[in-house]
Amino acid sequence: MPKDAPQLGCAQAPILKERGQHEVFCGLTSIVWLHRKMQDAFFLVVGSRTCAHLLQSAAGVMIFAEPRFATAILEETDLAGMADVHEELDRNVSQLLSRRPDIKRLFLVGSCPSEVIKLDLATVAEKLSEKYFPNVNVINFSGSGIETTFTQGEDACLEAVIRSLPSSEKTQLAVLGALPDIVQDQMMRLLEQLGLKNVFVLPQVKFDDDVSIGKNTQFICVQPFLGASYEEMVRRGAKPISANFPFGAEGTTKWLWAISERFGISKAKFDTVVAAPKLRAEQAVAAVADGLRGKSVFFFPDSQLEIPLARFLSAECGMELTEVGSPFIHKSLVHADLEDLPAPTQISEGQDVDKQLDRVFDYNPDLTVCGLGLANPLESKGLSTKWAIELVFSPIHFYEQAADLASLFARPLKRAELLKVGP
Ligand code: SF4
Repeated sequence: MPKDAPQLGCAQAPILKERGQHEVFCGLTSIVWLHRKMQDAFFLVVGSRTCAHLLQSAAGVMIFAEPRFATAILEETDLAGMADVHEELDRNVSQLLSRRPDIKRLFLVGSCPSEVIKLDLATVAEKLSEKYFPNVNVINFSGSGIETTFTQGEDACLEAVIRSLPSSEKTQLAVLGALPDIVQDQMMRLLEQLGLKNVFVLPQVKFDDDVSIGKNTQFICVQPFLGASYEEMVRRGAKPISANFPFGAEGTTKWLWAISERFGISKAKFDTVVAAPKLRAEQAVAAVADGLRGKSVFFFPDSQLEIPLARFLSAECGMELTEVGSPFIHKSLVHADLEDLPAPTQISEGQDVDKQLDRVFDYNPDLTVCGLGLANPLESKGLSTKWAIELVFSPIHFYEQAADLASLFARPLKRAELLKVGP
């Protein structure tokens, strides 16, 4: 390597670990996208009025369809132990299921209050599952905001789903993570063109879908925040496929190649399938990357997408990374992306928001990716920001979305440029 060539690789770099005040949404937020992916599921949050408000304002009100989420509100009498929460929950579930025979999966979702009063939702779910077998499968997971971030809601839900799946010896590929339908269809088409059979996505759309797991199941994640689900798959005997996450032309190619290698697909066949969409994505990203090249970016920890996205911005758009913060780093999942980050990048895990604010002002980056609560104050101090949560709700995976992903980062820079006053 030439002496002045950039040193690559943050996989072994020291990580700045912080445990202080943090500014993130809780796991209940993930119900907003999960209820759309799981069409026969209902999410019953066992929580407070605050939880109900969060869910209502994040998911909006469904006017034409019956909602598939609700909150069983813990009143003061429940919190003070003056009422039997189990009995009330039993009654609520019974009313709900008699009114809604379309529900095949009922998720009892824990919250901060239910955790504080140590409500054992696992046992409740088990008993209800027995009671309503075989019509309804009752599963619990936690969406609590105590020491967690919002994408962990999907991870906890998926882990619980995996735990309840039957075993099988089938040779198959499981793709973990919820994607917008259109993106999932594109992914399935690519996998099919590569010649892969028996591919399924978790969470599955319907409870009755023929989905099982065992030692002949190979699996790969499309989201980097699925640490607990990954561990559960391994515990069930499935074999992980490690790769960069499918963001941008390069990330998508590496992700698909890792699968192809595992299933013995030849390089020639692989190249034939990916050549055209890869070229299209490279050209589309290049057109947008002009506005990003040489600009610096700072990531506050929020969605856990930060490390793969930083790789995309650095390797495919020519941006300079200052600090890349993530609420939690699952090294087994993001190892490949960490390896592809330029070495001087500061990687941080967790948050102490005041210290991190000092650092962002020191760096004075061209673009700061952060949570909603920090964006306006930072804008008022002259920093251009990008809402991290937008990246979770937008279609950003795989070739066809590569340029849109770059555009999401280019837009605030362009706006700042246009707003610049002076000679
Ligand atoms: S789960 Fe916790 S953080 Fe989330 S809305 Fe309820 S009380 Fe607030």
